[in-house]
Amino acid sequence: MTHLLHRSINTQLPVAVGGKGAYVMDQSGKAYLDASGGAAVSCLGHGHPDVLSALHAQLDKLAYAHTGFFTTDVAEELADRLIADAPAGLDHVYLVSGGSEAVEAALKMARQYFVEVGKPQRRHVIARRQSYHGNTLGALAAGGNEWRRSQFSPLLIETHHIAPCFAYREQREDETLEDYGQRAAEELETKILELGPDDVMAFVAEPVVGATAGAVPPAPGYFKKIREICDRYGVLLILDEVMCGMGRTGTLHACEQDGISPDLLTIAKGLGGGYQPIGATLMSTGIFEAFKTGSGFFQHGHTYMGHPMAAAAGLAVQNIIRRDDLLQNVFAMGELLAERLTERFGQNPHVGDIRGRGLFRGIELVQNRETKTPFDPALKLHARIKREAMSQGLMVYPMGGTIDGRVGDHVLIAPPFIISPEEVEIICDRLGAAV
Ligand code: PMP
Repeated sequence: MTHLLHRSINTQLPVAVGGKGAYVMDQSGKAYLDASGGAAVSCLGHGHPDVLSALHAQLDKLAYAHTGFFTTDVAEELADRLIADAPAGLDHVYLVSGGSEAVEAALKMARQYFVEVGKPQRRHVIARRQSYHGNTLGALAAGGNEWRRSQFSPLLIETHHIAPCFAYREQREDETLEDYGQRAAEELETKILELGPDDVMAFVAEPVVGATAGAVPPAPGYFKKIREICDRYGVLLILDEVMCGMGRTGTLHACEQDGISPDLLTIAKGLGGGYQPIGATLMSTGIFEAFKTGSGFFQHGHTYMGHPMAAAAGLAVQNIIRRDDLLQNVFAMGELLAERLTERFGQNPHVGDIRGRGLFRGIELVQNRETKTPFDPALKLHARIKREAMSQGLMVYPMGGTIDGRVGDHVLIAPPFIISPEEVEIICDRLGAAV
């Protein structure tokens, strides 16, 4: 095994050979409790018999049909399913193969929309610092992680970044959480005015920030204000729910809990639960109509978009979540997990914050609770916790990094929606040992 390039060239990884329920097994027979779903992907756990039979049935019928020649029942049915439960105003679906492709499509939809409606000067994209929206060049440009961006600058799209809504780091002592949310959202208005309100195309944000911050939910009212500002200046709101969407936070879409709808919504990871690579971009009626009456098509495409096997996985996973009422379990187990994490880590001198929604929880590790000083990034604490957790038989998703020298290490926990109370206890025990 020497020819496969994984991202971490110098890391020896165990070989995964099987998976059942919430566990992944390696070649030595060791079982790992999957409390991260990889990166919040495996929402139904591994080897779910009903997903497997749906995939076998689709494979027997038809594995591939190019969307330039055919549509398929399975892709149509998945699109209907997604629109039936979509946030208000979204009525068409573009099926792709993953999160970056979904974000890339959203950015190009926004751009083409303004060309179609005769406002081609609207080109500026605003996003937030400490964000991740994917690794293809457009999505990378939208993301606000300097470490990831720096090697590839100058990027193809010039993006402007505002501060994330991150109460633990940014809320002042003299303001309420609500007031902080309003203040954080107002940064968007300032940036739009600075760039010129007629030149801004879109604002991109994750409702609950995942990989780059460790399940950071917005302050109450933040996204309502963001929606208001976007509407006031005719800026499209792109919500990236690639990680936090499809039930992960306890509602199908995370933005439901903030009481708003975007103009474009990206979903992936939990959509197909890891059984096939799939992502999707949902668009508003207005955007769809502009394409329809304009050039008549969206000038973009991929060979594997709308892939029947991927659509079959998405459809099966989404049907099972509804049939088994799994969002109930996400909510109940999410509350239990939050309670246990607080009991276990609430008094730990190095745990600064415990946060999240549903089965999307994060803990922030700090050198000093009072000053919130992060650990020295050179310690690579997140990498050490990942290694320790793996040796304890636990998959969690620790990340680290510094923004303006301030933000440090966190651990993201995102177990499958089928997790049991006993497995929640095991997560906390093993994470406790690792930390
Ligand atoms: N957006 C967000 C919010 C993500 O978390 C990710 C993946 N971590 C992506 C986009 C990119 O998705 P993918 O890795 O499937 O291309």
